[in-house]
Amino acid sequence: MMRVLVPLALMVAAAPLSGAQESSDPGEEYSIDAIRYGTIRGFPLSGLVMGAPAEERVDISMAFWLIRGKGRVILFDTGFHRPRWFERFDLDDYLRPDSALMEAGVDPADVTDVIVSHAHWDHMGGIDLFPAATLRIQREEYEYYTGPAWREGGRKGGIDAEDIAHLVGRNMAGKVAVVEGDDVEILPGIRAFTGARHTFASQYVLVEGAEPIVLASDNCYLDRNLATRTAGATFDPSDREGNVAALGRMLHLAGSADRVVPGHDPSQFQRFATEGRVAHVRGR
Ligand SMILES: [Zn+2]
Repeated sequence: MMRVLVPLALMVAAAPLSGAQESSDPGEEYSIDAIRYGTIRGFPLSGLVMGAPAEERVDISMAFWLIRGKGRVILFDTGFHRPRWFERFDLDDYLRPDSALMEAGVDPADVTDVIVSHAHWDHMGGIDLFPAATLRIQREEYEYYTGPAWREGGRKGGIDAEDIAHLVGRNMAGKVAVVEGDDVEILPGIRAFTGARHTFASQYVLVEGAEPIVLASDNCYLDRNLATRTAGATFDPSDREGNVAALGRMLHLAGSADRVVPGHDPSQFQRFATEGRVAHVRGR
């Protein structure tokens, strides 16, 4: 009998606490989860880490990140779902990002904000799956990919025209907020940083707290980039030095390498407690 009564009593005692977590207490810390929506197997390492041996291949995770607290449900990036990209990349274990989010217990309609690290297909290609959210993107990124990128001499590699059309529509619906440059608080306790250009104006974020977390997205592809201070292989030669400086800055901001979460390293699904597709980076 006692065995039944004790857990019941615990459940009752816990109920008001979990209710309180829904309100926006300014001292409250965000929880952070990494959500894996797929894997690409055997990706050439030299495509991610400058100067890596041509024959070395790695499995990479395709992920986005969920930040919850202070009355908000925030995504950092969104994955993708448009069919044309499956013709170019072999996705293993793919689940559409809105369904992958549900595995973390979140209704896609409840997402309040999406922070877009950059406009590439595999990061911004799911914004239409979260229609209620306000999109938060660097102003220069927004302006470049809705304008000059598509004109003569423009650079639009890895950018999906449908994503951009949706982005513009979302702006006209009053659902885009632009971020002005480097070291800016975009939401309470979340700061955006720029530096080297993975795209025209890519950004990464620091989620503040007792244990600060840097979510790097493609500004740091893999743990190896950070550990060896080696630029991502997709950066323009003029931006490699800037990317290396950004890696040092991420380390400084997070205070520890294990609190810098790289964009495509499957190690984050081992480093942090993981259930299925969801790694609990902080809290929960
Ligand atoms: Zn990427």
